[in-house]
Order: sequence, then C-alpha cells, then structure tokens
Amino acid sequence: MKITMAHGSGGSDTSKLIEEIFTNNFHNELEDSAIVKGCNNIAVTTDSFVVSPMNFPGGDIGRLAVCGTVNDLLMRASKPEYLTCGFILQEGLDTDVLKQIVESMAKTAKEANVRIVAGDTKVVEGDGGIYINTAGIGFVQNVVEVSAANCKCNDDIIISGNLGEHHAAILSKRMGIENSIESDCAPLCDMVNNLIINKIKVHAMRDVTRGGLATVLNELAEASNVLFEITESKLPVSAQVEDLCGLLGLEPLFMGNEGKMVAVVAHEDSEKALKIIKASKYGENAAIIGRVIKDTDSGVTLITDIGGKRQLGVLEGEGLPRIC
Ligand code: MG
Repeated sequence: MKITMAHGSGGSDTSKLIEEIFTNNFHNELEDSAIVKGCNNIAVTTDSFVVSPMNFPGGDIGRLAVCGTVNDLLMRASKPEYLTCGFILQEGLDTDVLKQIVESMAKTAKEANVRIVAGDTKVVEGDGGIYINTAGIGFVQNVVEVSAANCKCNDDIIISGNLGEHHAAILSKRMGIENSIESDCAPLCDMVNNLIINKIKVHAMRDVTRGGLATVLNELAEASNVLFEITESKLPVSAQVEDLCGLLGLEPLFMGNEGKMVAVVAHEDSEKALKIIKASKYGENAAIIGRVIKDTDSGVTLITDIGGKRQLGVLEGEGLPRIC
C-alpha cells in the first residue's frame, strides 16, 4: 500500500492506517491525549501542523499549533501546562514571516496560560514553507473519568458552537472565494475549566477537528458502544458557511473546526452545562443537538430536516488535505 492524501483526512483511511500500523506497535490510547502515571496523573499529547496556507482568515499555523495541542489536553479534563514545539522550516522562508508566526504562538500560549518550554529547529530544501510539531503536557483535574469510552445511555450531546468554520475559511482562501468567513481556531480553556469547577458530570469530550462532527461522534460512539441520535435542525451553522456549502455541495457535518468541542453530559446536568458553555469564551452558539439513545448498538443517526432518519458514517476519502 502506498500513502495517499486520503490517509491524512482524519476519516476512515486515517483510522485504518493508525489501527494497522501504529496502535499495533505503540502503547496508544485512541483518545485526544493519554493519561500516564507521574506524581499526579498527567495528560500527554502530540500533534503536527502542516496547514496550507500558513496564514488564513482568523489565524495562522502558529495559533493553530497551540490551540490544537491545548484542546487535546483539555478534552481529558486536564489543565494544559507545558508545550514543546519543533519547527521544520523550508529553505527560502522569510524570517519576518517566521517571526510573525512565533509571536502568534506566544500570544496564543499566553491566552491559554501554557508555557512553551522546549523546541527544536530543522531546515530542509523546499519552497519557503513551515511545519510545526508539538507535544503538550496537562495536569489531570478530574475526579470522574472523562473518556471517549465513557458515554452513557440518556446522556445529552452538546456542541460548543457553529460547525465547519475552520474548513470553510481554509477552503475559501485556497479557492479565492471572497467572503468574511474566519477560522474558529481557539483554545477552549475557559469553557472546559468552567465545566470542571462547576462539577458538571461530563462523560466524554472531543474537539471537532478533521473529519468534522460526524466523524468525531462515530469515534465516541464506537469507543463507548452507544448509539447517538442528533437532529439536523439543531446543528448550529452560520449563514455564510451554509451558503458556501450550498455552492460547493459540502456538508457541515463533515467539515473541520479548530475551536469547537462536543461534550457528552449526564442528562440531569445538560441544561446547566449548556448555560456554562454559552457564557464561556468561544461558546456563545452552543446547542444541545441530541442524545445517547441506546447502549446495545453503536453508531450515529441523524434526524433530517424533513423528518427522515439517516445513518451517519465517518468521513470517507481525502476530505480537505492540509487543513491543520
Ligand atoms: Mg482531538
């Protein structure tokens, strides 16, 4: 088998690659970050950023690198503390551009209250591009375990805001489509911290990135062996993203964000959780979009606008290459 762009989509080809080659050889948990033993439990994650273009409306590769890493740590209810970053720079990159990206990383790290404590730089031949690899460490806050495998029957599903904005911003810029869509690229520290300090019974969290909400929900459903039911009319999508989707035949359910999360919350706490998320930074458009209806079966069912039922799978094919 040869690697194709589809192996980077975050959808079915990516998970097949991970299962067949990586999880068989490494001690990987299929979670946003792994919790390992130390003086206290610490969460660990790593990520690589190859987004093209490196500057886009609403952010750049530097902000994206910090947000992506911080959000993966948050999704295990840990408090992000330390990041490392490795830069792979292509020959010809303007140092002013590099400086701008590094300043953007520093600003985002300050916003997320994390410290970038180690780094590495390599230069390769190329065309002035930049890749960033990060690692992140967070200190686990939870008493109740927050895990992809922890969704329970009757839990409610909350999405923290509008779908597809990062994907739509990158695609618009690449295609030269004029609109004012901006990437939602943001660290979700405030909303996760507010859920934790208010002792909300959050069973699972995952940030909605490559592959979109449909892929992320399928991953959670499979890990917990539960059936999710979500309602199309409740999905928050901005008018501009909806227009772009109409124009290009895309579905917001399969488009990536970089500043949104899905939280699966005990039914008795879900209204309170929604209020907390809506009052938090970057959570104003949050909505309860569905619930866990069965724990004898796994998958994701969509109740469509015309009242039909549709089984949602994970993203198939290459999606939008180099979206993050
Ligand atoms: Mg993630």
